[in-house]
Formats: sequence, structure tokens, C-alpha cells
Amino acid sequence: MRNLVIYNTLSRQKERFTPLHAPHVGMYVCGPTVYGDPHLGHARPAITFDILFRYLKHIGYKVRYVRNITDVGHLEHDADEGEDKIAKKARLEQLEPMEVAQYYINRYHHAMDALNVLPPSIEPHASGHIIEQIELVKQILDNGFAYVSNGSVYFDVPKYNQLHHYGKLSGRNLTDVINTSRELDGQDEKHNPVDFALWKKAQPEHIMRWPSPWSDGFPGWHCECTAMGKKYLGSHFDIHGGGMDLVFPHHECEIAQSVASQGDDMVHYWMHNNMITINGQKMGKSLGNFITLFEFFDGSNKNLDKAYSPMTIRFFILQAHYRSTVDFSNDALQAAEKGLERLLDAVNALEKIQPSNVTSVQISDLSEKCYDAMDDDLNTPIVIAHLFDASRIINQLVDGKATITADELASLKETFHTFCFDILGLLEDHASNAGREEAFAGAVNLLLAERQEAKANKDWAKSDRIRNELAALGFEIKDGKNGAEWKLNK
Ligand code: ZN
Repeated sequence: MRNLVIYNTLSRQKERFTPLHAPHVGMYVCGPTVYGDPHLGHARPAITFDILFRYLKHIGYKVRYVRNITDVGHLEHDADEGEDKIAKKARLEQLEPMEVAQYYINRYHHAMDALNVLPPSIEPHASGHIIEQIELVKQILDNGFAYVSNGSVYFDVPKYNQLHHYGKLSGRNLTDVINTSRELDGQDEKHNPVDFALWKKAQPEHIMRWPSPWSDGFPGWHCECTAMGKKYLGSHFDIHGGGMDLVFPHHECEIAQSVASQGDDMVHYWMHNNMITINGQKMGKSLGNFITLFEFFDGSNKNLDKAYSPMTIRFFILQAHYRSTVDFSNDALQAAEKGLERLLDAVNALEKIQPSNVTSVQISDLSEKCYDAMDDDLNTPIVIAHLFDASRIINQLVDGKATITADELASLKETFHTFCFDILGLLEDHASNAGREEAFAGAVNLLLAERQEAKANKDWAKSDRIRNELAALGFEIKDGKNGAEWKLNK
């Protein structure tokens, strides 16, 4: 097994990855809240943890990857207040909340497939795990870290903080948190504004509700990940991931819930991807720069010069390290598009190289250099840089300016295929395939037009030669009223 090092948000340093039960690895990643189309903010964590999932499997681990669907409890204003986002959409569109959730789950899956993000091993829904969440709330109440107030249950943050550090993941202390907490309507139920909801009593108009010992209501948003992580990965598991925006309060609250219910943190390595900006600005509906993934794919958003293929988006995200910010702009995407094309051209060019008796290029360490970059906290931009360096050498080999032996050529091909397709998860672009097919068909039609002209000039020798040679290449030609039709029998 390779020596993989990953950055742990909790310890704020890179640590050697040592699973609790090797070769088994448990990883949990916070998935989408399904009340709208997936956008760039969904693509980055999905791709980041897809790389981790692929790489862990590639180096020999058996990975159980759990990525949840939040279909209840994500409220309008903050974690504890406002209308449920899915219920609101359902009310506005006169649908069942689960109809809204299912529609956007399907849309999410469709976009993830296009980005070649592998499906997780388990994709549990929050609404399907209400019993487990009620159980979690009971344990926290029994241990004295929560209180019931007017049918709702709140986590007692100051009491917890007397024994444990609330804020250890985000690097805050309780005073910072108190100073930045907003007073909101309904907070008179809370003993302290920093307390967070474990269970909320439903208002009469609230349609997504379940019975509980405290009230008809619904779980607080942070409960689902603690309850479902434990159910599917056990009370201690290896990796918990998500976007950096989830560090506080979501993951901070998850740690508090875990410690308050079972006495310690469930998670060994906390991993977070950095955020995406658009032309230097945070993406947001109110800023008018909100672009969904489908709008990228078909170019229908006014902020886009053109459509960008899913693989361009994937490649663009992988060109930055997952802990750096990424800024999307048309220029940057077009540069990524060219870069991806250059890389895939190199993969295709490998097939044109004729092996020789000697190798005149330095290429045998390519594979090890790429593995070393992956082992260093999934450094995909360095992997891509090494592949670009190698593609320059491939061009020299194709042009006959350098030579390579058959064995070294075979291992070069294997390295390119392993890193481009298995680990980085790139696919031959549909767009460029379509372009190639169009050019191919154009060339065949051009030959058939030549043949038509030869026939018109009664140049039978030429028309037969074109027909016979196309037939020898596998083309079936049928002469019809509107000229010749062809198909390729291969
Ligand atoms: Zn979560």
C-alpha cells in the first residue's frame, strides 16, 4: 500500500493516512440539498471526493463511500430558522415535497454522470432516517447536553463547552461564536443564541413532519450526517469530507453531537475542499452570477460565451489543488478546454509511435512522479503538469526526433491511461468525438462526390477505383436516386 498523506482540517496539518480497519476504508461526504439544479458549488466537492474514492480504490483499499441526500431540515434563514427549502419549493409549485426532492435528485445524478463522478456505495436520504436521528437526540438529552423547549430540542453549547472545545474544527472559541451569533425570531426558545436545534417542533403550515417524543416536527439539519454516518460506517470511521463552507457550523455541530452522544468524535480525518468564485466574486443568486451545471453544458447562461463540455469543467477543477480557491471565467475555461484537448491528443498520439531498439528520452520515472503527487494530499495539478511534460516527449517520439523501446512505450501508455482515465476520471470528450465524426463523414462524402463527377465524365476506371478502395476499407456504398449512400461495416 502506498504512503498517502492527506491534510486533516482538525489537526491543521498533513497526516499519513492510516485506516482504522485496513484494507477497509469508510468515508462520508455531505451531499446536496435537493431543491434546485446542481451548480458549480456541487461539482467541486463531488469531483474532489471522487478523486479520493478512485485513488483509494486504485491503491488497493476497499472503500465504502457514503454520500447523503439532504431532503429535509435545510431551512431558509440558517440552520434553525425559516421554512424548509424543499417544502417552500413544493408549496410554490404545488407538488409533494418528495416530488421536488426526487426531481432534483435525478437532475443531480444526471449532472454527476456527465462529469464522470462515480456513484457512492450508499446514498442515504435524511427523510429515510428519522428514527436514527430521534435516537441520537435522545442520547444527547440523556447525557445532559441538550434541553427541551416548547416542543423543540436544542443542543446546550455553553454546557458542552465546559467539558469539550466547541469550535475546535473551525479554530474558534465560544466567545467568538457568541459575538458572531445573530438574534433571530424564535430564538427565545433557546437558552443561548449559540445553541442549535436537534429537533424542531413543526409550525401548523409546515408539511414535512414526523412524530417524536417532544412534538410533531423534524430533525435539525446537523443530525442527519451524524446519525447516517454512524449507521453505515460505524461509531468510528476514517474520513468525513465536504466543502469548506460546511466546517462551521455544520461539521462543528456534528463533532459536538458525536462527542455528546457517544463520548468521542467518530471521524479520524476531516477533509474540506475550497470554494469556487466566478470572475473573482462569490457565486450567488442575488449577485446574478449563478450558473447551473446544465447551463455550462449547453451554454445557455448569459455569463457564458459558449457551452463547455462536462470534461472541460472536470479538467478545470482538477487543474487546481482541492484546497485552493478556483476562479471560473470564460478565459480560464477556454484555456482548460485547450489543455484537455492537448492531453487527450497525447493519449491518441501514443498509438502512432513506432518502438525502437533504444530509448533516447527520460520517461521511465513518469509513473512514480505522478503517484508521488497523488500521495501528497491528492495533488492533481502536479499530476497534470507531469503528463503535460510527457506529452511534449510524446510529440518528439511521433515526429521521429526521439526513440523508445517497446517495453518502455507499453509502460508509458499504461501510465497515461491509468492517470488520465482511472484516477483523474477524464473521458474522451463527446464534443471532440462529435467533431471528429463530422470531419470523417465530410471526407467520405468528398470522395463520393469525386466518384460522381468521374461517372458523369464517363471515367469508369476512376469511379471504380474509388468504390473498390472504399469497399476494401470496410465501406458499403449504395447508389440511389439522390447520389450514393454509405455506411461503415466495422
Ligand atoms: Zn453533512
